[in-house]
Amino acid sequence: MTELASERPFADAASHHPLPEAAAERPLAKVFVDEIHPPTAPDQRREVALRSDALSAYFGDITAVKAVSMPFFANEVTAIIGPSGCGKSTLLRCLNRMHETIPIARVEGSVELFGHPIYGSDVNPTAVRRNVGMVFQRPTPFPTMSIRKNVTAGLTGPAQRKMARAEVDNLIEMTLERSGLWNEVKDRLDESAMSLSGGQQQRLCIARALATSPRVLLLDEPTASLDPLSTQIVEELVYELREAVTVVIVTHNMQQAARVSNQTAFLLAGELIETAPTKALFTAPQDPRTEAYITGRFG
Ligand code: ADP
Repeated sequence: MTELASERPFADAASHHPLPEAAAERPLAKVFVDEIHPPTAPDQRREVALRSDALSAYFGDITAVKAVSMPFFANEVTAIIGPSGCGKSTLLRCLNRMHETIPIARVEGSVELFGHPIYGSDVNPTAVRRNVGMVFQRPTPFPTMSIRKNVTAGLTGPAQRKMARAEVDNLIEMTLERSGLWNEVKDRLDESAMSLSGGQQQRLCIARALATSPRVLLLDEPTASLDPLSTQIVEELVYELREAVTVVIVTHNMQQAARVSNQTAFLLAGELIETAPTKALFTAPQDPRTEAYITGRFG
């Protein structure tokens, strides 16, 4: 894994381009266009980390995701946006085989992780989830475990069980550094994870997901329960993380998608309406439904 860049792109962006209070009164695309990161150069070759092909997801008779085919580029952040109930979380949960853990749930189509089909009959879903980690809306630290134990909770593979103490300590430090938490917790690693604030707990969950060295990290509205400052810290972290890992983030907040992502996908009623580099999607959407959504006409 590459080291993370130390610069913090949002601190400046946020102070120079404060978001208006009444965003709905102005076309959103114009409001936050200045905050969007430069798009990836069109001629740059982008490696595909994940690719969904005709992916549909069902809950019994309900079709939550309808034949979605799209790439998720390596070392980029892809945001999935759309109105509540349009299938964002379900699509995300299909990308690491979490959807099928619900009894009435079913998946059709395929997903490839760096060219390997994750729904192959010989593929172990647990191995998929180690490679494609997930962080949920509310922080979910293990309440009876220390901060240290929370970080290492996912290290259950045979090689990981044999790691020497020094190696484990090293991994804990590196992972907490990467999730921006090390300086805040290095002197209290044996305290309960519940002694941390909500924002710190969410970064601990990100550290726990990173400890298994996933290739992809899925974030399902990771700031939904956080205060504005913790939200900003997590957003900065998300953008930095892409240097080490491919990130897919579900958000109902379009400004957040604009701030943290390189690529954005717009879903409506389970259908992928369009996916494009974030700047292109917010400034020159190809589909009138995308334009209607980003300018606040529904949703
Ligand atoms: P979003 O993340 O965009 O809000 P979801 O993926 O959560 O949307 O939901 C997509 C659709 O699937 C909705 O119609 C929702 O009601 C339905 N759904 C989600 N979870 C379940 C479930 N556990 N059982 C039945 N239907 C569900």
